[in-house]
Amino acid sequence: MSGFTPARRYQPPFMPFKRQPFKKRALASIERAIKGPLFGCRMCGNCLLQETALICPMECPKGLRNGPCGGSTPERCYVDESRPCIWYKIYERSFKLGREALLLEVLPPMDWKKAGTDSWSDVAAQAGKVGAKEILSALSSGKPDAVSQTFDSIFRPVRQPEWWQGDSEYHPPAYTEPVSELERRLKAGEFVVAAEVTPPLSINTDKLRKNIEMLKPYVSALNFTDSASAIPRMSSVACSQIALELGAEPVLQITGRENTRVGLQSNVMGASALGVRNILCLTGDSMVLGPGPNGRMDIVDLDSIQMLWVLRRMRDEGKYLDGREIKTAPKYFLGAAASPFASNMKFQALREQKKVNVGAQFFQTNVVFDADALDEWLNEIAKRNILDKVHILIGITPLKNYKTAAYMNAKIPGVFIPETIMKRMEAAQEKGNEQEEGFKIALELIEKIKTKQGVHGVHIMAVGWEEIVPRIVKEAGLMPKDGTMKKSAQEAQLALG
Ligand code: SF4
Repeated sequence: MSGFTPARRYQPPFMPFKRQPFKKRALASIERAIKGPLFGCRMCGNCLLQETALICPMECPKGLRNGPCGGSTPERCYVDESRPCIWYKIYERSFKLGREALLLEVLPPMDWKKAGTDSWSDVAAQAGKVGAKEILSALSSGKPDAVSQTFDSIFRPVRQPEWWQGDSEYHPPAYTEPVSELERRLKAGEFVVAAEVTPPLSINTDKLRKNIEMLKPYVSALNFTDSASAIPRMSSVACSQIALELGAEPVLQITGRENTRVGLQSNVMGASALGVRNILCLTGDSMVLGPGPNGRMDIVDLDSIQMLWVLRRMRDEGKYLDGREIKTAPKYFLGAAASPFASNMKFQALREQKKVNVGAQFFQTNVVFDADALDEWLNEIAKRNILDKVHILIGITPLKNYKTAAYMNAKIPGVFIPETIMKRMEAAQEKGNEQEEGFKIALELIEKIKTKQGVHGVHIMAVGWEEIVPRIVKEAGLMPKDGTMKKSAQEAQLALG
């Protein structure tokens, strides 16, 4: 175990892509020999320790650089259960030291050209620019503010390269007219329903089309997952295109796991050109959840916060990540996942704030089974002053049987099912009316959720039980306001421009 980091062991350091000159190699070896044992440093070459309470975030098996994923718990990392979630530890220490505001800064993805090389020479060059006189006078002033400002003037340019320039500010969308039906309805104050449709496992789209046609009159939008649980299925873009053809409004789910920075930018341009107007950015479930042989599990190119940052800038500033101009910028309503019951609500609220700051306009939460406990999360969000900046759709899963409930409770990261519900499902199993009980529980949850301030809808994830959704929507009194969707989504897109 390294000196300053609570992780269980070292992870292998990144190696440089190209052979470095001798001086750089020598410096990198010294840096690694010191920072490895002290901080668990993996030599990413893009050091963030200043922002992360001196714990190296690259110990996270997903390589997340902007906070915990939705599967984080106080006890362990869900990817590697033998170690703690390093981001939980970073948040814990930062809150303890009163440094949590630093966690709001949007940190850049790695510049892989720098991986495996030293970061000290960049720091030394920046310190040279600030000047020895200024550094010494700040250090000798005895004023903590002066010291931290001087340190920031050295370290910020190192961790925030020209092509990123992340900050801790809120960036509102640079447009006012809604770009999608979902956005229009939310802005009009409608309590909306979105439903998830599982993409098919083959190229046969009969069931997919049937589900879209069946659900279309009952919901404002349909989500298509991006190979959830790391199990390959038909792509979300293809399903979204089919939904548009059928006159339904899609929410394209897009994951960092499946998209490098190049793939992400090209895919959203393509999706926008096809008429997809709602995009939900997710880091994605770890490969560890999928069937073997597992793909690379130790790093995602961009985390969900970085994805939102890149996508918002493409839309609002008309710029690719590399700074090139986009002549006709894409249009979309940007969403993100929120995980009220992962780790600690205070920590999650900070992460949600960061997502809103970078560009999330709506949240679709992980599945919620405890509507009362949700208040605590909403309070934390309110304290962070973001309730009026984001539309929140609470995740609902109707439980089909006790076995599914037990599986979700034990295995799905960030899902917590209260004992009372587990007992009800267990009793229903004995009586042989599990589906009816699962349906009733979903209705009860929606009834409570409808009354909560700051909640703007529900997102029903029926996981293969899509036929129950119309009944839930009808009996919960949540039919879309203007009846069935009158215009096809494509017509709506055209009307909205
Ligand atoms: S739980 Fe998530 S954020 Fe935490 S260390 Fe594991 S992968 Fe990283």
